[in-house]
Amino acid sequence: MPTRRDFIRNMAMSSIVLPIGMQFPKAKAQKLRVALVGLGRYARLLADAIMVSSHCELKGLVTGTPSKEEEWGKKYNVPKRNIYNYQNFDEIASNKEIDLIYIVLPNGMHMEYAVRAAKAGKHVMVEKPMATNAADCKVIIEACEKAGVQLGVGYRLHFEPYNMEMMRLGQEKVLGEVRLVDASLGYNIEQTDPNDWHLNKKLAGGGALQNLGVYCVQAARYITGLEPVSVKAEYGPKHFPELFKEVEETLYWQLHFENKAVATSTASYVYGIDRLYASASQGHFELSPAISYGPFRGRSNQAEFDFPQTNQQQVQMDKIAQYILAEKPLPDHISGYEGLRDLKVMDAIYRAAETGKRVSI
Ligand code: NAD
Repeated sequence: MPTRRDFIRNMAMSSIVLPIGMQFPKAKAQKLRVALVGLGRYARLLADAIMVSSHCELKGLVTGTPSKEEEWGKKYNVPKRNIYNYQNFDEIASNKEIDLIYIVLPNGMHMEYAVRAAKAGKHVMVEKPMATNAADCKVIIEACEKAGVQLGVGYRLHFEPYNMEMMRLGQEKVLGEVRLVDASLGYNIEQTDPNDWHLNKKLAGGGALQNLGVYCVQAARYITGLEPVSVKAEYGPKHFPELFKEVEETLYWQLHFENKAVATSTASYVYGIDRLYASASQGHFELSPAISYGPFRGRSNQAEFDFPQTNQQQVQMDKIAQYILAEKPLPDHISGYEGLRDLKVMDAIYRAAETGKRVSI
């Protein structure tokens, strides 16, 4: 089993081999200059992470709330000339102080703003889920390709040591071939504001699957290293029908892989669960907590995992910045193509839940 020391050494020594990419716009500064769009809870974490990062600078803000212009501008030392609202956002195209635009808006707004960011000629990061369906992901990918800019999805767990160990054990078949994954995430939001956008179909795209299940689909794919070929799914009972008028409260599904592996998942806004479990031909390995902000815990049938607990947003931002500053393509597993693969599976999960049939992906 690799230890904390091995992990740190591997991180330092790793050089990922990348395909030769097209010519991306040069980032002109020594640090990647980032603008955040949508100044909510997660943007706050990203902003704080950028402030302590080595390779990024927070240089721009986009918000529809005038009081946030003042408050965030002061707190993060962002000059007024780099603060935009949703109406004048496109003017960011002529701002030479911004290299990358990071979309942290409600899911249903990702596509519009990612396309506008690409048209402004800036590199684009989009929060998870990349969009609310696969067709919208394709629109974003095409816009970025047309503009010749990089596109990434905020998949922070690809830089998180405990999840990276799950990927290594599964994909490298360290304990044999993975036959079963159980990947589930849920928390109880019965106290939430009934006007929260997560409950609004247009803004959220759906319920627990869009917000939480995306991580489970990701995990099933990154533990096995395989693409599922079909899915069966079912909506769970509604405990709070007055809240969940437009979106699902709970979804259960099974992904089937060509090698007969199965991944079972629950995504829920009522059950508390945060767990990844993999059963392989010669052992098993698991994390719980697995997906939230940690502290992560994990073990295999051979040993407890012992890795550093990291500032996930800082590590993500620094890694992304290093690729873009070096004009190297972002790795496939955090690219827009990865976001699209997940949304294809999620589209199929909804079709399976609605029809009650096994659906091909
Ligand atoms: P939030 O509600 O805290 O923030 C959303 C922001 O969008 C707010 O500043 C709000 O003012 C703004 N906004 C603009 N137009 C809006 C509209 N019409 N309705 C509602 N808000 C509007 O949400 P959040 O938790 O920060 O989530 C934002 C995105 O980040 C989502 O896509 C979410 O899935 C993602 N997220 C990712 C992680 C992660 O760990 N990677 C964690 C949380 C959220």
